[in-house]
Amino acid sequence: MTSLSNRRQSPKLQRLLAQATRQALLKGAHWAWGIQLMLAAFMWFHVKAMHNAPLVGEGALPWQFIHVELLVLVLILQPLLWYWLDRWPLTRWRKAVSILALLWGCLWASAIYALLKTELPGRGTMEPAVATTLLLVGLISFYPMSQVLYGFCLPILTSLTSHVVINAVAFPWLFGAGMLILLILLESGRRMLLSWFVLAVNREYEQLLMVKQLDALAHQDPLTGLANRRHFDQEGEQTLTNGDADSQLSLILLDVDFFKRYNDGYGHQAGDASLILVAECLTQSVREPRDLVARYGGEEFVVLLPETGLAGAEQVAKRIRSTLAERALRHEGSEVADHLTLSQGIAQWRQGETLSMLLERADDALYRVKEQGRDGYSVAP
Ligand code: GH3
Ligand code: MG
Ligand code: MG
Repeated sequence: MTSLSNRRQSPKLQRLLAQATRQALLKGAHWAWGIQLMLAAFMWFHVKAMHNAPLVGEGALPWQFIHVELLVLVLILQPLLWYWLDRWPLTRWRKAVSILALLWGCLWASAIYALLKTELPGRGTMEPAVATTLLLVGLISFYPMSQVLYGFCLPILTSLTSHVVINAVAFPWLFGAGMLILLILLESGRRMLLSWFVLAVNREYEQLLMVKQLDALAHQDPLTGLANRRHFDQEGEQTLTNGDADSQLSLILLDVDFFKRYNDGYGHQAGDASLILVAECLTQSVREPRDLVARYGGEEFVVLLPETGLAGAEQVAKRIRSTLAERALRHEGSEVADHLTLSQGIAQWRQGETLSMLLERADDALYRVKEQGRDGYSVAP
């Protein structure tokens, strides 16, 4: 329950909901547009046929047909309006769409009202059928935003109710009950569709979160929490491609000395703990987030130092060595010190060099340190 309310409050979810609402309304409006155009054309032909019959009360309303024609005209122009509205920011868009739906509903309402008013007694009437169809179209298209839905539907419902007043229907209470059922259908239908909509957006949000978490995990070393080799390779390649010719870039490859003996002497779990300690020392010794520290594999680490020349890289190497020495993790099996130490190979990037070429030179430098007795650093020529 708590997690659900937390999720509801999440601004990211709110944003996703707002965007999805806009998309759903836009799709709904396009569909509703086509259906309404058909209905308006149908009304127009219907009116013409009734007029020619003649089954329309002459002179009841001098402006009676203009309504259907105006409706058709407004509907034909709708795509332009949507195209223009789609470029509006989300907050203004919501208000504009609500007002537009109200105007749209009023236009239909006035057409239905005018046609009802010109109706001759005894003629089979189409208006209530058109009006209820419109209400259902409104429900299906505009359920994500109640202002839009009711802005569109209430004027139509009102003009339908005026039927009772104008034509003095036989059983007004029956008509009233019918109207009530329509209202219940609208509100319950809106709630049901909206709950599915919110559920779908919630699921999308959860999936996005999961993908983000999985992506983070795919780039992280689970033991030390450092970036893993995959992440380092991606970032390194990107830094090399983006870096300009003048910018300096250095790299340090590090390997724990006599680590096999450490594992043998203190156990694998203590070995893991010591790798975590090395990772801490490394992150403490660099300027995050510009520098990148990664576990390259096993007991090997790598540090990428953008905008850093050899002198800067040597300083970092010294800082790493002294930070680890301060932690003084006992290592009896080591031949170079009584605590855990590292060997480091430094290389500075040269113009035209790939990441693997740079790593190879750093590895050569590291090999030399191992040869010379470990617990130190060497710079690649
Ligand atoms: P050198 O001083 O020449 O680097 O010798 P070394 O013993 O450090 O190097 P070697 O490559 O012989 O041994 C590395 C050891 O690191 C072997 C392997 O079992 C251990 N190792 C690799 N990954 C892990 C890990 O995640 N946890 C632990 N505890 N040990 C690991
Ligand atoms: Mg090694
Ligand atoms: Mg080693």
